[in-house]
Amino acid sequence: MSNPKPDGDGADPVAQSQAWAATLERLVRGLEGGSRQWTSARRKDSVQRLLAANRSDMQRLRQRLDPLIAAWDADRGTGRPVDAADGAALPAEVTADLAGAPASDPASIEVASAPAEDAASAAGIAAPATDWPRVVSTFEATVRSALPPDEPRAAELADELAALSRRIGADGATPEIVGAVDDVCRRAQRLLAHRHHLVDELGRLCADLGAGLTELSEDESWAHGQAEALRSRLADGVNARSVRAASELLAETRQRQQRVRGERDAARDALKSLIPRMLAELSMLDEQTGRFQGSVTQHAHAIEHADSLESLAGVVRAMVEDARAVQQVVGGARARMQEETHRAGELQSRVQALEGELRRLSEEVSTDALTRVANRRGLQTAFETECAKIEREPAPLAVGLIDIDNFKKLNDTLGHAAGDKALQALAARVQQDLRPGDSVARFGGEEFVVLLPATVVEESQAVLTRLQRALTASLFMHDQREVFVTFSAGVTAWRPGEPLQTALERADEALYEAKRTGKNRTCIG
Ligand code: GH3
Ligand code: MG
Ligand code: MG
Repeated sequence: MSNPKPDGDGADPVAQSQAWAATLERLVRGLEGGSRQWTSARRKDSVQRLLAANRSDMQRLRQRLDPLIAAWDADRGTGRPVDAADGAALPAEVTADLAGAPASDPASIEVASAPAEDAASAAGIAAPATDWPRVVSTFEATVRSALPPDEPRAAELADELAALSRRIGADGATPEIVGAVDDVCRRAQRLLAHRHHLVDELGRLCADLGAGLTELSEDESWAHGQAEALRSRLADGVNARSVRAASELLAETRQRQQRVRGERDAARDALKSLIPRMLAELSMLDEQTGRFQGSVTQHAHAIEHADSLESLAGVVRAMVEDARAVQQVVGGARARMQEETHRAGELQSRVQALEGELRRLSEEVSTDALTRVANRRGLQTAFETECAKIEREPAPLAVGLIDIDNFKKLNDTLGHAAGDKALQALAARVQQDLRPGDSVARFGGEEFVVLLPATVVEESQAVLTRLQRALTASLFMHDQREVFVTFSAGVTAWRPGEPLQTALERADEALYEAKRTGKNRTCIG
């Protein structure tokens, strides 16, 4: 009498079908629902893979199914992640089947002995949900190291990502969290894109500085060779090497400046000591004159008591000649020195007056000479006035940054004069179209800033968009040619207490977004 093995591996058909019934029962239960590691889609997929690999051998199929179902149960039972491809959790032959190749295929043995992730990815199985927090936290660390550490908004984004990674760990990737991650990523991309833009701008600035240095430095001078070397390095693009070269050049320039400054100070000190020296000389001459006068008195006394006329006449003649010569020398020297002293005094007070004038001029001038709108100083004054008003009566303030599109091309094709005309036309148009309480200022090159009091940011976007449409429809004439100008803009709401520069940085990011997404448009930052 044969006794069927409990696992049904024997030839006894009854035992086999009993074993199959048990396996199927567990399979059906196992396929219901899912866990984080073994999602229901993944369970079905693994069964299909085992079926495909063991269709011709029912016994082998069941031997593969049992440990697979056990792994599902373990996952559900303990809630602890059990990796399906982990050799400790699943026999190697099952892992190999899951990898999509027959167990007898030598290649599958290699796959089976490979690390768990490799086997999973070779099988095209998605990373288990339990890996998500790890993925998000790696991502967060990457973003944190990519973002500038001293930028508060970057730290904010990294903190948000950290919080989301914790939430994914606790709640799984719910649609809401996925949406939030997506949003943070988009903001990080925007910030990083802006950083890249800044690096490009810095590169261009370095190149311009290099070019300027070359032009300024005299041929054969110490700086000329340096500047030329720097230019050729920057011509290959901005990289660590070219930036280091620039730093070295600047360090050398600084040393040179220190030396020159030292020389200048020495020269100035020498000049200063000249006056007391001249005065000392003068008083010495005076002394000599006094002494001479004393000797004259003595001689006069001797003359009075002279006994022979000849000797008397000789002494007197010599004395008179001496006196004349000394008086001439002393008088001339004194006159010259007094004149010099007087002139030095005059020059000194002139220098002082000019310095005072320069200071006053730089403080007073707040209008841009070309466009006749406010310059940076004027902008700062206008901003401070607005802040003071808001302090008295809280109201929104929108800050906009305007940048002419393709201005370099306009300069290159029509000339600098046409560029200047475009700047004037734009400034005039903006000033004319804005409300009387609004301010416009030339911020630099072809960039303008507008301050729109009592305007919420969406409204300011509409205002600038209207201005863009009006400008697109208008044109100015240059050399009997019609010239159209467009601009891009970024606007932001000023946050009470923040410096203008901070709001402008946000506006600049939005401006860059506008440039990136087609120009002639206004974005909110
Ligand atoms: P984008 O659309 O991306 O803003 O390109 P762009 O060509 O306008 O910008 P880019 O910054 O490359 O070039 C700005 C140019 O503006 C370069 C500079 O020669 C020119 N520029 C700056 N100030 C003046 C100025 O006062 N007059 C003239 N005519 N040109 C100026
Ligand atoms: Mg620009
Ligand atoms: Mg421009």
